[in-house]
Parts: sequence; C-alpha cells; structure tokens
Amino acid sequence: MIIHLPKNISYACAKEYAESIGALCLNKPEYFVLITNHSVKQLPDSLAKLALNHWTFDTDMQLSSRHYIHATHRITIGDTYIGGDQKNQLMIAGPCAIESREQIEQSCQMLKQQNIRVLRAGCYKPRTSPYTFRGLGEDGLKLLAEMREKYSLLIATEMRDATHADKVVEYADIVQVGAKAMYDHGLLTAAGQSGKPIILKRGFGSTLQELVNCADFIMSCGNDQVILCERGIRSFETNTRFTLDLCGVAWLKEHCNLPIIIDPSHAMGYAYGIGDLARACTAMGIDGLLIETHPSPAYAQSDSAQQLDHLQFTNMYASLQSIATAVGKKLV
Ligand code: PEP
Ligand code: MN
Repeated sequence: MIIHLPKNISYACAKEYAESIGALCLNKPEYFVLITNHSVKQLPDSLAKLALNHWTFDTDMQLSSRHYIHATHRITIGDTYIGGDQKNQLMIAGPCAIESREQIEQSCQMLKQQNIRVLRAGCYKPRTSPYTFRGLGEDGLKLLAEMREKYSLLIATEMRDATHADKVVEYADIVQVGAKAMYDHGLLTAAGQSGKPIILKRGFGSTLQELVNCADFIMSCGNDQVILCERGIRSFETNTRFTLDLCGVAWLKEHCNLPIIIDPSHAMGYAYGIGDLARACTAMGIDGLLIETHPSPAYAQSDSAQQLDHLQFTNMYASLQSIATAVGKKLV
C-alpha cells in the first residue's frame, strides 16, 4: 500500500507512523509517502484521519505502477528529456566500450553530425570471459568527461559493481545498471541514492515483474528517475544472441509509469538485424533506443559482431525519421 501524509506534520512524525506499520517513508516536496508491501489492503486505523490518499496493489510493483501515478515520469537529462508527454524518442548511441581517445573522438564527431545528444560507452565491462577486455576503468571515465566538454554531449555509462559505483555516479549524466547486475542490491541502492537518471536493464533471465520490482527498489531509495531497458531475454533460440521481448515492452507500456527504451544491439547480437529491429521498436512508440556503433566494428574489443559501423548507423537513423513522425514521436 502507498499512503500520502500531509507536510503539516514533521518528517520525524511521518517516520514514526511509517515504523508503526512497517512502512518505508519518503520525504517528497508535496507530501510524505509511506509504502508497505502489497499484502496490506486496509488503511491502518491510526492513519484513517490523517492520510491524504492511499492506493492498494496486487504486487510490489507500486511506485512504478500506473495505478499509483498514471502519467509516465518525465526525466530531465541535461537540456533534453525522456518520458513525460512521451513525445521524444531519445537516441543513446556509441561504442560498447571506450577503447582509446581516437576511437571515442570519432564516435563523438559522428553523433554531433547526427545531432544526437547522448553518447554511450562502457568503462567497466561485465564480460562473460575473464580473458577479454574489461574496459579502461577510471581513465575511460576521465576521457568521457573530456568528450562531454569538447562536444557538449551527455554521457551514459555503466556501473558494473559497487567498487566503482561512486566514480561512475560522479562522471555520468545517465548511470546504466547492466543486465547481469539487475539483481545487485548494492548497485540498486547506489543508483537510488545517486540523484542521477538510471538506465535499468532487464536481466536476460528475469521476468517483467522482477524488472519492475528492481525499479521500485531504486525508487524506494528516493530516486524516481528510472528508465527501463528491454535488451533481450534468453529463450530456446540460439541463432540470435537473445530474443527481444516486444510483448514485454507492450506490457510495460500498459502497466508501468517509467520511460521505456529498447536495446536491439545486445538482443540481436549481429549488426545485420539492428536496422529492422530499431524500426520495429520505433513503430511501437517507445521513449528511446540504445544502439551500439563503433568506427571500426571489426576491431572492437567487445561486442564486435553487433556494432554498426558509422555508415550503417547513419542510414539506420535516417530510416527511423518517417516512422517516428507517423507515431507522433520526435527523434532527439
Ligand atoms: C552494454 O550495454 O554494453 C551491456 C553490457 O549490456 P547488457 O548489460 O544489456 O548486457
Ligand atoms: Mn555491449
């Protein structure tokens, strides 16, 4: 249950009420928000007179539920936004990993030519094999910060684990929690306390319910700026890297009040499928796309097969324009 209490009582008093019913207490500008688990269906007698409003739920998807707040959250990112009136489709693009100054400069120049605002690039890569490139770490973050200044781009980059969470939060404009880390409650807490927009990627073996529960976890730490990312789930199919769950996206659009982006790159695993998938995703009227693109994919140190070269990327991006217009979206 979610309960709103008025601000004419003190925070200490709101917290006492929360404790008495085993609830969390958030101090929002307009009201205090008390949240119990969903098994509580009756407003406690002690709060009957005081409560401004209350909502009951069938699951612990509560803060992120349209049943609580119907409108999609608007998340400001630098001079742009995602969600809100849902008019924008935000493109988040760049290489899987930052590998060198030369590589990332080429990526930035291409994004600028396309008027794209958000550069993605990982510095701490969660790899399947321990014998492969794991990212430039803090040196990479510093290079990304330089690129932000030089090209006035916004930076989306991933925190892989708690050892560097504070550094990523310091440098990033958007913090990514990756598919393999979706269940890492240390990272979810760090994301919740970061004050930064968060991309929460769906674990490839996770249900939609588990994804939205993790979103609620971040929001329950006081950060509503969560962007959900569908990036493919594991199915019986092995010819593609993962299976892009567009039914799941439709479900999230219906039930969840958070912006939704789709990452066809990691789902498909091969560059040849990305254009078609990006167009299909755009036709669904989603809030954003996350696409991997590299100046020389053949030489990429991670996810080589799925990264578009710059010509493939610019052709794909141009092809989204008319589809976005048809579904009432503006590419940003
Ligand atoms: C990535 O975005 O480069 C990445 C590692 O993605 P995922 O967590 O979805 O595998
Ligand atoms: Mn990748």
